[in-house]
Amino acid sequence: AAKTAGRDRYVIFDESMYADALQEAEARLRLEQALADDEFVVHYQPIVDLPSGRLIGVEALVRWQHPERGLLGPDTFIGLAEQTGLIVPLGHWVLAESCRQVAAWHSDVPGAEQLRISVNLSARQFQHMDLVADVAGVLRDSGIDPGRVVLEITESLLMRDTDATISTLRELRDLGLHIAIDDFGTGYSSLSYLRRFPIDILKIDKAFIDGIATDPDDATLAEAVVQLGRALRLQTVAEGIENVDQHSLLSALGCTYGQGYLFARPAGSAQIEALLRHSDNTPVSEDWWSTPEQ
Ligand code: C2E
Ligand code: MG
Ligand code: MG
Ligand code: MG
Repeated sequence: AAKTAGRDRYVIFDESMYADALQEAEARLRLEQALADDEFVVHYQPIVDLPSGRLIGVEALVRWQHPERGLLGPDTFIGLAEQTGLIVPLGHWVLAESCRQVAAWHSDVPGAEQLRISVNLSARQFQHMDLVADVAGVLRDSGIDPGRVVLEITESLLMRDTDATISTLRELRDLGLHIAIDDFGTGYSSLSYLRRFPIDILKIDKAFIDGIATDPDDATLAEAVVQLGRALRLQTVAEGIENVDQHSLLSALGCTYGQGYLFARPAGSAQIEALLRHSDNTPVSEDWWSTPEQ
């Protein structure tokens, strides 16, 4: 198109745009191929009870075991998967795989019967019309107790089409599962707004946890979120806890659960299973967070 347009014409599709589109199409194909070839893996990060540090659940975090580039984190491909719509089948796979895995732990690992599994849902998946039927199918096929499943959605999703969102959340909860608001505090939901949504858990974004032991403003904000959770009878999860000062402060504030490198990094299913088999419901040991993710 750019070729036939004369110098004086308005070029709406130039070579660089063509290159971008080509690159995106290639990347999409590569992602589809990776899904077909089983190159994605689910890692699990422990979520612990505060203050005891007892493991109560895990969050499923997708990784791409790339044949040449090694283990890739979601930051390198989730955006593209969202953009191209591939997040719908990929997200389905993560949910199915993690529910299957956790159902197996429920029946095979003594003491793990109550383990919760949290799975991230992208906005694109949430708006997909088949979501509720799809989730119901996964729950049925995996045989997992739906009461052990948490779906994490982001705060920004709540701001979109409120009525449709509320009814989808109701239908999901009617399946028996729980809803968490992820990265809470980074959006703009007000108190009165938040109480309209049928949710169970607030996950306080790492951005507030980072400075909690050093910055009085961060500490005040984190305290406000914990109190908001209590007022709305929601559980609170602090994400990104990296040191003992943050841990003790959050315990003192009455935050329900915590997640972070202090307790454990995300790890593959074999490592998590070993942890479950040896933990006896005791706190996760210190050496866990110094081990790099592999
Ligand atoms: P998220 O859901 O907020 O997950 C928590 C992220 O924080 C994870 O990054 C985790 O590894 C990291 N994290 C946990 N504790 C600490 C800590 O103490 N310090 C630091 N520096 N980081 C910590 P990860 O695995 O790279 O995932 C990034 C994001 O990608 C997730 O944020 C989530 O939004 C998205 N994501 C991951 N898996 C999926 C998935 O299956 N589907 C969708 N839609 N999104 C996913
Ligand atoms: Mg999450
Ligand atoms: Mg989060
Ligand atoms: Mg986060």
